Amino acid sequence: MSEALEISDELGPAKVIHVHNPALGLKGILVIDNVATGPSIGGLRIAPDVSLEECARLARAMTLKNAAAGLAHGGGKSVLFADPRMAREQKEELIRGFAYALRNEQDYIFGPDMGSDETCMAWVKDEIGRAVGLPREIGGIPLDEIGATGWGLSHVADVAARYCNLAIRGARVAIQGFGAVGKHAARFLANLGAVLVAASDSRGTIHDPKGLDLGTLIPLKEAGKAVSDYPGGQKRGRDDIIDVECDIWIPAARPDVVHENNVRRLKTKLVVQGANIPFTPGAEKFLHEQGVLVVPDFIANAGGVICAAMEYQGASQSTAFATIEEKLHTNTKLVLDRVAKEKILPRTAALELAVARVKKAMAYRRWRIY
Ligand code: NAD
Repeated sequence: MSEALEISDELGPAKVIHVHNPALGLKGILVIDNVATGPSIGGLRIAPDVSLEECARLARAMTLKNAAAGLAHGGGKSVLFADPRMAREQKEELIRGFAYALRNEQDYIFGPDMGSDETCMAWVKDEIGRAVGLPREIGGIPLDEIGATGWGLSHVADVAARYCNLAIRGARVAIQGFGAVGKHAARFLANLGAVLVAASDSRGTIHDPKGLDLGTLIPLKEAGKAVSDYPGGQKRGRDDIIDVECDIWIPAARPDVVHENNVRRLKTKLVVQGANIPFTPGAEKFLHEQGVLVVPDFIANAGGVICAAMEYQGASQSTAFATIEEKLHTNTKLVLDRVAKEKILPRTAALELAVARVKKAMAYRRWRIY
């Protein structure tokens, strides 16, 4: 089945499953990419128009992210073809039906993704017992509320700063996207002594070279206002955050925000990628040649998936935080030591680390397969 997929190679996919239940109006797919390191964790996406190829690519991204994070989990992804805004009753019926159809696929653990949330994961857990990203009442660790990914980013920034002769205490930080990832990254970095000089959201940018007061900015955002409603500082356009002079620039909004046509505007020493694929390959290469260190997304933003894996083991919130810190310290050092020694792109070093881990895990398996 996988021969038709462009992404099919020595790593996977291991399984492609099509689910069809005409009585329920249910159609979906599951791609389990590679489970050499352990059962796959990957999101359930609810959307009308995701191709099998895209699903396979997302499953591969999870294989690499989980391996790079040092988790005992492989990568998978599932797609339920439907409008995510459908009525709740219909959504519950479809999700329960989809989960039930996949009840014997022990190698896949459902997680939330676009179109699904913690309530959806509670239905899956109730149906088949395998889901992460659950509500707190049934053992979930609410990773966006506690800022698991932002916590990880702050530790990655702390380690990476040492590779650019930068002291984290007093470092000027600019954050694009002040949501679940961005605002918590700001908070944890401030605890390390860094100073947030600019933040943006979909409505604009706020900039103050002397530092923004997080005690004012975070409650304001949580009350549904824009960063530009901050009393003080200089209000600028949404995309002007890229021009802000700083030491650490954190993209935490959308993919492809920095590309060949705007990368020259960045004035920073270090980039720590919170969002997924926020820079094009050309932009990353340009920055590397300019001596700007860019820690790639699947190393830097792994705090969320580490937290989810810890939840699956029944760990507490404090254990999850300690694990994120430990794993991200180790992995960031491993990648950046290689970058310093071999002068290769950080993304290349990170990818090679992940693939080597998966291949080593495959060598331990009896069937030498995924
Ligand atoms: P979120 O919806 O909570 O926050 C996104 C923020 O970005 C919002 O403040 C929004 O106003 C802002 N925004 C949107 N478009 C923007 C633009 N063009 N310029 C500036 N700001 C813009 O989302 P989140 O959970 O914080 O996730 C942010 C990114 O990080 C996404 O790409 C997501 O896939 C990725 N990510 C999230 C997690 C996690 O744990 N939540 C983990 C890994 C990766």
